[in-house]
Amino acid sequence: MATPTTAPPDVVVVLGTRPEIVKLAGIVRLLGDAARVVHTGQHYDDNLSDVFLAELGLPEPAAYLGVGGERRGRQIGLAVERLDELFARRRPDAVVVQGDTNAVLAAAIAANAAEVPLVHVEAGLRSYDRRMPEEHNRVVADHLGDLLLAPTETNRENLLAEGIPPDRIVVTGNTVVEAVTELLPAAEERAEVLARHGVEPARYVLATFHRPENVDDPEILKVILGELASLPIPVILPMHPRTRRRIVEHGFAELAEAIRVVSPVGYREFLALGAESAFLVSDSGGVQEEVSVYKRPVLVVRRSTERPEVLGTFAERVLPGPAIGEIARRWLADLDALHAHLAPLPSPYGDGSASARSVAAIEELLGA
Ligand code: UDP
Repeated sequence: MATPTTAPPDVVVVLGTRPEIVKLAGIVRLLGDAARVVHTGQHYDDNLSDVFLAELGLPEPAAYLGVGGERRGRQIGLAVERLDELFARRRPDAVVVQGDTNAVLAAAIAANAAEVPLVHVEAGLRSYDRRMPEEHNRVVADHLGDLLLAPTETNRENLLAEGIPPDRIVVTGNTVVEAVTELLPAAEERAEVLARHGVEPARYVLATFHRPENVDDPEILKVILGELASLPIPVILPMHPRTRRRIVEHGFAELAEAIRVVSPVGYREFLALGAESAFLVSDSGGVQEEVSVYKRPVLVVRRSTERPEVLGTFAERVLPGPAIGEIARRWLADLDALHAHLAPLPSPYGDGSASARSVAAIEELLGA
């Protein structure tokens, strides 16, 4: 983005959680010298952050906000304050945020207060589920945003329905497509990953869950663990620290014994495990998109989803309960046909050019 005669613009890119790193990496790389990466500290475990920065080829962040591990209100307040100080020391030309974390809300407020243009990557997603903090974070960011990069036409329509002017919105596709395409290991490495985990292609399930709606209520957590434990093929569960804490608190360690619990794995390893699995069971947002690139079905254990584009093809949504096991057994009964059905379907999240389109839109915003 550098021009030979003038200094590059200064674009602060705020990130901290693994999905933010995955989805902003392409944009940061294309921005080159113009990008100033600010890490929030929200995912403070090494295996949820540093590994991802390295795998996705990102530089050491220019600044760390250190707001991990706080309760929501305090996390937002601290992040606003620290970003405000950072912007006061050197006012950026734009601030880029992605998705729906507390850091997104904080950065949107801080950019607004400093009168710096705000770019929201992955704008316009709506679950219409006001019980989810993520829904509030993304709505505020969209309404404060000056440039809204919407992954799909559905996302654009959601924004228009809220009265957001069309000239603020650009439909880009989702940057996760290029992240998966670039980082999905080739067959040989995938085989090594499976051997390490002691599983056969399409003969295991990959599961992740950590959302408060699934892990904070002991009854719900127990039901999910029970359903996973009763599946007829091995279940690999890279366990998020929040889920681990809740399992210990509720005394459910024994329930988890029939599941192959592992620590969170790096991105390439997770993609390899997902792409070779029979199917996935997850409450993750990003996983719902990624499966549409490597063509595996996912059972989404959630009360609502902000990603309707994959429902009925790559994803089926269920509430925690016996439906998890029922659908899983139905899928297993005719797995080859299900995989063959999904294989030719295009991803609704675009063709892998979302990062390039996003940077082009940012350049236009900056008048570069
Ligand atoms: N992921 C990973 N290793 C794991 C579990 C997940 O690399 O052990 C990746 C996954 O592929 C996806 C992202 O982390 O890209 C999802 O993170 P999370 O579920 O925390 O967030 P969400 O997508 O729900 O915002």
